Amino acid sequence: MSTTLDTLFDLDALILEADRENAPAWTGAPLRYHEEPRTPEELDDAFDRWIFEHGRAGCYPDSHMWHRYPWGPQAMPRVRGHQLTIYSADVSCTDRDHDHQDDSLPDGEDRFQAICAPCGWRLISEDLDTVIETMHDHAFPGWRDLPVVPRKHRGIPPRGRDPLREWVEANYPAHWQQPGHPI
Ligand SMILES: [Zn+2]
Ligand SMILES: [Zn+2]
Repeated sequence: MSTTLDTLFDLDALILEADRENAPAWTGAPLRYHEEPRTPEELDDAFDRWIFEHGRAGCYPDSHMWHRYPWGPQAMPRVRGHQLTIYSADVSCTDRDHDHQDDSLPDGEDRFQAICAPCGWRLISEDLDTVIETMHDHAFPGWRDLPVVPRKHRGIPPRGRDPLREWVEANYPAHWQQPGHPI
């Protein structure tokens, strides 16, 4: 027997189906893996479009599309005229519902992309560390010469104290002690 809740879900599904049918043809960034130079807005809009068309389930592995890197700083504040965003794409295909005859995927599991929107600078690599280090070279030249934080100051600070902050204030050049700058 159908409950009111089931009926509402059916109605939502029908409305979504109608929305999909009536949506204008997509003219934005490709709805698949690609290495075209695109702005963060274009990549975000394309990923939203894929989800609109296919649903959120499996949106990372099935779309293979660029999405904001979910496990770290995704968009940094605008600093020194730069503003960096990190994307990732899952390029390993385990889905038997589609193939890649027309849009082959690169080797490996993931790709990472950093984009500096104000400059149009970007880098794609399969190595996240390379992307993070190179984007710092772009936006913060000289960061590699900064003193290295002692291991004992990493991790969660003890209650009521912030030894990392104290250490940075004592050891970093003043012009590196600005919001949005790397440690
Ligand atoms: Zn830049
Ligand atoms: Zn695939």
